Parts: sequence; C-alpha cells; structure tokens
Amino acid sequence: MQYQSFLIKYAEIGTKGKNRYIFEDALMHQIRHHLQKVEGEFVIQKEQGRIYVNAKTDYDYDEVIDALKRVFGVTGICPMMQLEKCEYDELRKKVVDFVKVEHPEDGFSFKVHAKRADKHYPVTSDEINADLGHDILEANEGARVDVHHPDFVVYVEIRQKINVYTQVIKGAGGMPIGTNGKAMLLLSGGIDSPVAGYMIAKRGVMIEAVYFHAPPYTSDRAKQKVVDLAKLVARYSGSIKLHVINFTDIQLAIYEKCPHDELTIIMRRYMMRIAEMIAEKNDCIGLITGESIGQVASQTMFSLRTTDEVCNLPVYRPVIGFDKQEIVDLSEKIGTYETSILPYEDCCTIFVAKHPVTKPNLGAIKKSELRLSEIIDEMVEKAVNEEEVIWCS
Ligand code: ATP
Ligand code: MG
Repeated sequence: MQYQSFLIKYAEIGTKGKNRYIFEDALMHQIRHHLQKVEGEFVIQKEQGRIYVNAKTDYDYDEVIDALKRVFGVTGICPMMQLEKCEYDELRKKVVDFVKVEHPEDGFSFKVHAKRADKHYPVTSDEINADLGHDILEANEGARVDVHHPDFVVYVEIRQKINVYTQVIKGAGGMPIGTNGKAMLLLSGGIDSPVAGYMIAKRGVMIEAVYFHAPPYTSDRAKQKVVDLAKLVARYSGSIKLHVINFTDIQLAIYEKCPHDELTIIMRRYMMRIAEMIAEKNDCIGLITGESIGQVASQTMFSLRTTDEVCNLPVYRPVIGFDKQEIVDLSEKIGTYETSILPYEDCCTIFVAKHPVTKPNLGAIKKSELRLSEIIDEMVEKAVNEEEVIWCS
C-alpha cells in the first residue's frame, strides 16, 4: 500500500513548555533535511502536538522509513490513512477496509483506541471503540479483541482531520539536531569515536570533526576511512565539517625531544589543544572523544586527567563507562563498525612506545613539554592555519 501520510511521534521535546515550538521547528527542519535525499516530494506539517509528513508524489516506502528512522527526536513513525471529516458510517467502513489491507493475516488479536480531540464530532471515543471493535470482528474471521496484549492497536484520532493507523515504527529517539549547540568531535579511524559522535549528536548537538593526519606515516586510505566514517555519522547528524590537520611535524618533534614512555600522553595533549583552537574558531562549545576508562594506557583516569588539563572547553566522553563490546554493539547498530575495522594504520599506532606510562605525573609531563617550547607554538599555528576542510554528507 502507498500511504499518503505519516504521523511522526516525538516525546522529549513535548516537555519543554514555552520552548516547545523551537524543538518542533528543529524537528521539522531535520525531517525535511533527511527526506531531501529520498526520491519524491513531501510536505511537512505541524498541528498541536503532531507532525505529519504528507507525500505529494510516489516514493519508495523502505527508503522513506529508513530516512525517518535516522532523525533524532522522532520516537515513532506511523504510516497512516488520513481522512477528511466524514459521516460516522463512512468512517467505520473505511477503517475496516484499512485494517483488512494492513492485516490480511488470519486470527489476529487487536484493540481499538479512539481519541476524540475534536469534541464537536458527534460520537464519543468509547462509542467509536465499541463500534469499530464490533465491525472489525465481524469482517475478519478468527479475529479477537485483546485489550492487554493485542497483536496491534487500531488508532483512530479525530482531529482537524481523522488519522487512522495500526503501526508504530520505532524512531531514533533523542533530540533534534540544532537544539543544543555545536561540539567538535576528535574523529579517528577507530571504533569508538564515531560512536561517541553519534551519541552526542543524538542529544541534539550539531557536530564538527577534527582528524589528525600524519602523512606519510598514515596513508591517504587512512584519511579516506575517516571521511567515510564522518559520512556515516552524518547520515544521522547531518553534514559534518571535517577539519584535517597535518600532525606529522608535531609528532616527529615530540618523538625526537620527549621521553618515549610519555609520547602518547604528550601527543594527546597537543591533539586536545589544537582541537580546542579549531573548536573555538568554529563556535563549538565542547569537545567529544571516544575514550573509555582503562581501555588503553592513555585512557586511565590518571592519563585522562593529564589530557583534560590542557582544555578549557568541557570534554564529553559518552562511551566513558562502556566496555569495548558495548561500543562494538552500538557501532554495528549505527552502521560504522565495518568501516572502523578496515586495517589502515592510525597515527597513534605508529609512534607508540613499548611501555607507555599509565600513571603520568603531570609535573613531569609539563617539564618534558618544555623541551618543545622553542618550536611548538609555531608548529601548532602552522598546522591550524593549513587545515584542510572536507564537508561530509
Ligand atoms: P578510537 O576507536 O575512537 O580510535 P581508540 O580506542 O583507538 O579510539 P585512542 O587511539 O587512544 O583510542 O584515542 C582516543 C580518542 O582520541 C579517540 O576516540 C578519538 O576521539 C581521539 N583520537 C585518537 N586519534 C585521533 C586522530 N588521529 N584524530 C582525531 N582524533 C583522534
Ligand atoms: Mg584510535
């Protein structure tokens, strides 16, 4: 069946009081954005507590559902029949026909849930429930009413128009992008950082990303992998402005001048410093990383404290308490896993020490960094000024 409309359900934004329209407008904007990539023409409309997507042309059902399922803020997608107000007898007949087409199977259980928002309609919700229950039972052999655990619910909403639907497809949840500021994601080619970006975007945060590239130690293929990951996250978050920073000279300088067991920590401190500079230039009010406590030496609580110390902006680490397997599960769910496990080297793996410190001493680290003091500011400035920007969508 080609549905002419979809009812979009949303939860959290319903609770925002006077700000509600801001959230609803952001949600409509996001729905429009996601449907732009789908063939067909759609009109998105708002009515008291409801958002509708109306199809004006033919479209591919799976494609539309797939797009709508990636819009943060949507909790449910209901393909529906929308009717102009009509005589009650006609409504009853149309609902029975609709249910027959939607559920041709034998012996289903159901219940009717009518809601009369328009109190001028001459029949009450209870009467509609009773009458339609009766009609559907009569028209479908073996059907039965089950008010506690029905196979499906027949929803009938009497509003400006009449909405009828029996399916509620689960949406992505979260909040619409654009309702919570912008943050800078440190995006590597690994499993964790794309998941971290997804999780923060899900809270309504717009995302930009920074990738530290170290040619020729890291290849173009490694960079392409990061671009591909950004595109996969962008399927949910909307376009991502990816800043590619050439990190080679800085990394070589650290390698040359600092103790090797402190390499990773010092390198990570420079990544954070640079990420913060780019964040501030681009109006981002937070940083995001894919770190998880204890996963590797640079992610012990001691190490995290040492990397945090160089940042003024808050650092969001949404997978901080996850086990690796939990992060893997999420990356599979959002579709980044297959790309993340491609075997291209990342810049951190080339310069790693055999025995990195797990309890870095902040004083010692700062002292080691002094060895870079004559050259490092200029190198950082050069790296930031010569960034390459790639829009990923
Ligand atoms: P991931 O799976 O995200 O690569 P990881 O377990 O490999 O994480 P690390 O390499 O220690 O962990 O990196 C920790 C975090 O630092 C990453 O999640 C990412 O946010 C950031 N990061 C690491 N390398 C880079 C890089 N080359 N460019 C940008 N960010 C990076
Ligand atoms: Mg990594």
